[in-house]
Amino acid sequence: MSLSILNNVNLAQYTSWMIGGDADHFCLPTTVDELKEALAFAKQNQLPITILGGGSNVLISDKGIRGLTIGLRRFSEISTEIRDGRLHINCLSGTAKSELLKVFLKNQMGPALFLAGLPGDVGGGVVMNAGVAEMFTPREFMEMVDSIDVMTIDGEIKELQKSDLKISYRHTDGWQPHIVMRVRLSWPYERKPEILTQVREANKIRLSKQPLDMPSCGSVFKNPEGYKVAQLIDQCGLKGYRIGGAQVSTKHANFIVNVEEAKAADAWNLILHVQKTVKEQKGVDIVTEVIRLGDW
Ligand SMILES: Cc1cc2nc3c(=O)[nH]c(=O)nc-3n(C[C@H](O)[C@H](O)[C@H](O)COP(=O)(O)OP(=O)(O)OC[C@H]3O[C@@H](n4cnc5c(N)ncnc54)[C@H](O)[C@@H]3O)c2cc1C
Repeated sequence: MSLSILNNVNLAQYTSWMIGGDADHFCLPTTVDELKEALAFAKQNQLPITILGGGSNVLISDKGIRGLTIGLRRFSEISTEIRDGRLHINCLSGTAKSELLKVFLKNQMGPALFLAGLPGDVGGGVVMNAGVAEMFTPREFMEMVDSIDVMTIDGEIKELQKSDLKISYRHTDGWQPHIVMRVRLSWPYERKPEILTQVREANKIRLSKQPLDMPSCGSVFKNPEGYKVAQLIDQCGLKGYRIGGAQVSTKHANFIVNVEEAKAADAWNLILHVQKTVKEQKGVDIVTEVIRLGDW
């Protein structure tokens, strides 16, 4: 075995929120063979599997995660090819979105504007169908995706076309119960020399609107049909509301920031408080975008 599998690894360091307990077993595969090894280990020891991408949209329990957690942040490889008037990109799912951004920037292409400031990795982009509020093209991650390869629990690789997947707002179905292993994307090869300036401008706007200097998971709640959730939370007077080390950001009401060694329980209780208050005061049900992992 070349893959090292560690015991009792604290996962907070692998999340953008810097929150969470320990994984019973944890590994960081770098190749397809190592990912297979990880799955074989889990099967041999009858361990449940949890996948962690860039960790930018998860709330990991203080009690941690039982079984084997597979972190994909080193499972990274990217190649490109221009064919039939399109730029084709083939990457392993742990490739950071920022690597994808670099490719589009180098080629002065439109998706750079969409990807600017989107954290996490490519696999997380598929699973969450990451998207932006601005009217950019593309506006959602899955618009760029042609097909994916998944790895089954037995280490078998299967290709799924985009048409095999069910794509919706901040969610993609149809790849489960496997692991998104490889992602193939493409976009019309049209150069836009103005893109670098636009990306710089978009970054400035993000920085002015979002608390990017503090640990968070980005938007905590999805926008309910017909509403902007940040406005609803703001109108309920919840900006700055704090439970333990978790606080509704004073800058952006749909961000909960880790102001002082927040526990997962602090963040979760704050989420429940915001949901309850918005329901009571506005009559609107809001659901989380952030995914809870581990033992609750
Ligand atoms: C500051 C900040 C700003 C953000 N802005 C945005 C934004 O503008 N738009 C937006 O949509 N999101 C945004 N997010 C949220 C987040 O970055 C995205 O949802 C991102 O796509 C998640 O990717 P990830 O790799 O971090 O996934 P993770 O958080 O690691 O995982 C998310 C879920 O996907 C599963 N998963 C991950 N990879 C795989 C895989 N390969 N196979 C199977 N399952 C997998 C995990 O088990 C988990 O359930 C923001 C987050 C932060 C911290």
